[in-house]
Amino acid sequence: MRIVALTFHDVVADESAATSHSDEFYRIKASELEKLLSQLRKLGYQTISSREFRAWQQGTTTLPERAVVLTFDDGYASHFELVAPLLVRYRFAGTFFIAVDLVGQPGHMSWEQLRKLVFLGMEIGSHGMTHEPLTGFTREQLTHELTQSKQLLEERLGVPVRAIAAPRGFWNHAVAEAVREAGYEAAWISTIGTNGQETQPLALRRVVVRQPFSAERLVTMVEGWEPSFWWAANQQLLIRFLKRVLGVYWYEQLKRRLVPNA
Ligand SMILES: [Zn+2]
Repeated sequence: MRIVALTFHDVVADESAATSHSDEFYRIKASELEKLLSQLRKLGYQTISSREFRAWQQGTTTLPERAVVLTFDDGYASHFELVAPLLVRYRFAGTFFIAVDLVGQPGHMSWEQLRKLVFLGMEIGSHGMTHEPLTGFTREQLTHELTQSKQLLEERLGVPVRAIAAPRGFWNHAVAEAVREAGYEAAWISTIGTNGQETQPLALRRVVVRQPFSAERLVTMVEGWEPSFWWAANQQLLIRFLKRVLGVYWYEQLKRRLVPNA
């Protein structure tokens, strides 16, 4: 059995898609998310949390026949306003990775909204304090990012925080080791692939949902259809290649042309 985890960023109401300020490459419309959720529901999928996934890896629980992990990064206000109602409507639950310094910032969820997410049965994970790449910190700063974010989320939300997602996707062995020492039992990164019982729990794979959005293609990936992973992995390689060759500025310019405003 292989489990696919999907990663979402900002989700916008269809009518405000053109005026949103978040990164349009990773931004999807509420109608697009709903289309995907309804297809997964029709196929009989159930969502599992990071905690349930780890329990399955450890052999202490079984999973539904069709299971998927839905993760939402960065604590956007839309996760409370649009995503949570959709998840509840389709009887799904998600795992929300929160960068603590962003809580209460414009466009992001407040502590009160996060507490309501918990009340709705959603899982909360850490996304660091500052949302800066974990690989760029000194050992001391890294420990602060990992332990402080975990502790603050646990104290203010009253739930255990056992999972972390790598801010901006940067990850290495030293970071994984520090994450383990800080008491996390799962780390979700941005490497494309599926997860099995043998997958290293501090490098769990995710499929980042981005434009151009296709519910059908995402469903084929959740269903484990290999060529769609090949396609997505190649797209990811192309992105890395372009970033390196063009540099960040020109890459951003190109991205703007590739993803037209909706
Ligand atoms: Zn992030």
